Amino acid sequence: MRVALSLAALACGALLNCIQTDSARAWGDEGHQVVALVAQSFLEPDVRKRVNALLAADTDPLTGHDIASAATWADKYRDANIDNSRERTRQWHFVDIEITAPNLDQACFNHPALPNGKPASDGSKDDCVVDKIEQFSSELADPATDAEERVVALKFLLHFVGDVHQPLHSSDDHDRGGNDKRVSAAGLSAGNLHHFWDTEFVDQLGPDARTIASDLIGHITKEQQTQWQIGVPADWAKEAFAISKDDAYGALPSPNQRGSFRLTDEYVTTATNDAALQLSKAGVRLAMILNQALRK
Ligand SMILES: [Zn+2]
Repeated sequence: MRVALSLAALACGALLNCIQTDSARAWGDEGHQVVALVAQSFLEPDVRKRVNALLAADTDPLTGHDIASAATWADKYRDANIDNSRERTRQWHFVDIEITAPNLDQACFNHPALPNGKPASDGSKDDCVVDKIEQFSSELADPATDAEERVVALKFLLHFVGDVHQPLHSSDDHDRGGNDKRVSAAGLSAGNLHHFWDTEFVDQLGPDARTIASDLIGHITKEQQTQWQIGVPADWAKEAFAISKDDAYGALPSPNQRGSFRLTDEYVTTATNDAALQLSKAGVRLAMILNQALRK
């Protein structure tokens, strides 16, 4: 994954319009896999069977058909630019609530309605992750949804519930969600702020997605499960925004003369704890959505 990203960065150096593609806008693959694996452990047994059956029947070759791999599908689908999917789906991965003037409705393009009779996968390109979670949840729950759209809805949900919990997917400070801020920290490879929250802080939690997920699952209490299941995607976006305001942007040190930020050990520790909490919440809430949509 790292190699692929740096190759993409090299290619972007030669292509000016590449700047617009925002290929780094997501938890890294590992974060999304963790969310799906946490969710899997909280699925009701019959729902878990239904999820596995839907994924097993999927013929799309972009990712594997286990729940962890399928949770990375929406990024692969966007980046593969299938039928202009980069442009059509790019903005569905985030909700850029501005730190200086927070307004969720504005960040959601004032919630465009789906065109009559169109599936959620064919909705306006100007829509946010909050609305897409709502739309795909409704589709997954509706027995009238056609088979192909149902699996697409499931795969978008597996991914987007993760995205809305990444603090820099639910906030912006006129820096493309941190993509324009150069940061470094002791022991971590330098990159932009968004990348640090996508990947570097998740990497601190363990050697691979399975290990991280089982560690998080082991620490989630019954009380937390109950508490976290309250609210709707818009509330979860506001919660992630608050973390971003305090910890991702608010705790940034002053930039150096070259305009880049050197993160303190304290920043890294807080951010790593935030990542653990957000991945845990995302997993519990994803399970809630799937249980509600697919329980008979
Ligand atoms: Zn994403």
